[in-house]
Amino acid sequence: MTEPTTPLMQQYHSIKRQHPHALLLFRLGDFYELFYDDAIVAARQLQITLTSRNREKGQPVPMCGVPYHAAETYIARLIRAGHKVAICEQMEDPSRAKKLVRREVIRVLTPGTATDSPLLETRENNFLAAIARNGGSKPVGLAFVDFSTGEFRATEFAGPSAEPRLRDALEILRPREILTPAQAATLFPDPSATPRASLDGLGATETNLEPWVFETAYSERILTEHFRVATLDGFGLAGHSQAIAAAGGLLHYLRETAAISVAESTSGNGMAIQTRPAGRGLEHLDQIAFYEQQDALSLDHVTVRNLELLQPALGDEPSATLLFTLDRTTTGMGARLLRSWILRPAIDREEIEARLDAVSELKSATLVRDEIHRTLDAIFDLERLTSRVTLGNATPRDLLALGRSLSAIPTVRGMLARCKAPRLAHLHFQMDELADIRDQIARAIADDPPAQPTEPGIIRRGYHAELDELRDLSKSSKQTIAAMEERERKRTGIASLKIRFNNVFGYYIEISKANQHLAPPDYMRKQTLANAERFTSPELKDYETKVLEADQRAIEIERRLYRELREAIAAEASRLRQTATAIAQTDVLVNFAVLAAERNYTRPKFTESECGVGANGAGRGELLIAGSRHPVIEALLEQRGERFVPNDIYLDDASRPILLITGPNMGGKSTYLRQAALIIIMAQMGSFVPATEARLPLIDRIFTRIGAADNLARGRSTFLVEMSEVAAILNTATSASLVLLDEVGRGTATFDGLSIAWAVVEHLHQNAHPRTLFATHYHELTELEQLLPGVKNLHVAVREAGSEIVFLRRVEPGAADKSYGIEVARLAGLPQSVIARAREVLAEHEKGEHQVTKELSPGAAAAEQPVMFTPVKQEVLD
Ligand code: ADP
Ligand code: MG
Repeated sequence: MTEPTTPLMQQYHSIKRQHPHALLLFRLGDFYELFYDDAIVAARQLQITLTSRNREKGQPVPMCGVPYHAAETYIARLIRAGHKVAICEQMEDPSRAKKLVRREVIRVLTPGTATDSPLLETRENNFLAAIARNGGSKPVGLAFVDFSTGEFRATEFAGPSAEPRLRDALEILRPREILTPAQAATLFPDPSATPRASLDGLGATETNLEPWVFETAYSERILTEHFRVATLDGFGLAGHSQAIAAAGGLLHYLRETAAISVAESTSGNGMAIQTRPAGRGLEHLDQIAFYEQQDALSLDHVTVRNLELLQPALGDEPSATLLFTLDRTTTGMGARLLRSWILRPAIDREEIEARLDAVSELKSATLVRDEIHRTLDAIFDLERLTSRVTLGNATPRDLLALGRSLSAIPTVRGMLARCKAPRLAHLHFQMDELADIRDQIARAIADDPPAQPTEPGIIRRGYHAELDELRDLSKSSKQTIAAMEERERKRTGIASLKIRFNNVFGYYIEISKANQHLAPPDYMRKQTLANAERFTSPELKDYETKVLEADQRAIEIERRLYRELREAIAAEASRLRQTATAIAQTDVLVNFAVLAAERNYTRPKFTESECGVGANGAGRGELLIAGSRHPVIEALLEQRGERFVPNDIYLDDASRPILLITGPNMGGKSTYLRQAALIIIMAQMGSFVPATEARLPLIDRIFTRIGAADNLARGRSTFLVEMSEVAAILNTATSASLVLLDEVGRGTATFDGLSIAWAVVEHLHQNAHPRTLFATHYHELTELEQLLPGVKNLHVAVREAGSEIVFLRRVEPGAADKSYGIEVARLAGLPQSVIARAREVLAEHEKGEHQVTKELSPGAAAAEQPVMFTPVKQEVLD
């Protein structure tokens, strides 16, 4: 880098050195300027003009800038694009500074530490994750925090599959930013399993920290210090040194960036800047929870994607997701909790039953349910408001929103008090009305406060006597000045004499040039204009000092009161967070009750039998879902005035149950598979389910795999991917798992595919023997019913009417008798001539070449293996 030539650029470089990884927004007057590479990056990202300024060592310095008053939106765009931004402010008034204006970085904003609303999705979490591993033989520690809500958790991955499982967890969490040790190679000693492979393609900003930050001893110290505890055992972290390491690294980073200590800045830029002693502002991180993967029904990310839990398959409407279908929550907290319940349904029977009891009661208590639902609507995002308060970023309007939210809580509590379900009673107990805070806000904050804490008019009249007096003085200045003006006019005889105020010169008496000679001797000249002269007088000067001092004093008092109020609220962050958590849960349970009532869902029952209990007590037992419906498709059909055809799903208590579902394309096989999984997920979340009756075992994991051909639209599913996804099932499924295989084996030639499918079924049957639903076009597989106990054939029913087929959408026992490939092709609009020809070929094929057809499923073969038909075709042509 060339030597800076000016003191300003020297200052720039010394600040930039402290923030090498952030784009430095350097305040110069009314602009934030960026220089060098920062400027190039920002100009491209923000589509603003790149210019250059005073050369350094003969080289022009690239530069671009954004006006400070509009900076918020520009900064938001940079953060959303994954950049880190350091905001460097002028720390003194440039007009008063003697030499170079003092500048300091007052805030570092990063994608993972964002707390300002423009940077966040209301109904989604914004996670910052950290990964640590001190020694290759140790587990990998993962910690993550949603800084905007205070949720802070950690876990560990041990054993040979640590890396893919970590990757999986990250795929599901979708953190915005990931912290790793600078020598990331230490994470995964196996070079083929580098963290690069783990982190690539996640769309997260990666931040490297010094490795010592992740040392367990250091981590343990800053965590115990932060939580003010002697040991971390109470958080479940005992013996989990790598989870501690990751969590410590994360906390270290938050202290360094988000909780940066700042001095009061008067050059407000819209993003509130407040004084805060070093290390403070993290009070909302009041606990950390260690969890194990197996504490929940575990869904790998392929399954999350295949089941369209959160995101629709490519090109589909957003309403095609389970989240969309189930989400009628009213608060941001509730929406986020629902999302996390979908990703981690419960596995603990007591927990599930507690939720179901609550939903059941709320379902029948219509009045209570409606009242809570309505009242929750008035509650803002308590979690995010609280974190902004503790971080000192809360605006006066945030506090007002907080106060109003708190006033809604007594109604919710009152309603919960009427309920009997223990979970609802518990939520009632957990919810704190926080009347002290509510009243304090109501007393202190004006009805229509300004947007920024730096502006006057925040504090309500009557809250502070001196403030009111000072404001009166300021207000009465109009009359006082008018009276003085009147007096001076009389005294001087100048009718046009005016007394005015401006920001630069303060109060002045203005006399036109023509009347200048009438100015009395006690007038002192202040400023000369083209056709007027401006003066001041001893009386006016005195008055000015008094008013300006009063204004200044009022501002100071107001700021102090605001700060005190904010700090008083921050001190109650834990109570607020506890209440927010209770509100979130109430919201989700009420949501489930609303769905249950409106959509005719039933309460699932859980079965357990002694027949081979799996992990976490999840075991065998029959699985019966009578009259089951696919919740998402049902809702979509309903909008079009159509009805979903209910089906029964039954896996008996056999020790190795596998259902093989055959039938024509478009018959409803995939739908049937998915509805089984979705119903189980809903049930274990604690929701009622779309069925007339559901008796379910507790499931520990759900795997859903779709054959590559079905999945090609995503542009990334090759046969290799399909197989590696299947491999993960064979390696990790247990007897308490549910496995859905949809056309697996399709990504390769028919015989290969069939053979692989066959072997996969056998393997599942012999080893883990999870409950399995396999939809396939390989008719040959249906022979397995004869060979393996527990395997049952089902097919989707169609009715043939002449050459037409009608999909009945009913799933019935037994294998499909044929594939109906040609019928489906006809439905799809293939030219009549092609259809007719295909029938001919098929007929030939079935009678003449029976040897070949025996090995091929007719429909699938026609569609997929035209090569096989070449000899037949030629024969016919001959
Ligand atoms: P397959 O996997 O057999 O090719 P799908 O499961 O993809 O068939 O179903 C095709 C379409 O049929 C679905 O998109 C859905 O709209 C409709 N469908 C499936 N099952 C039902 C049902 N039980 N009731 C109503 N419509 C259904
Ligand atoms: Mg299908």
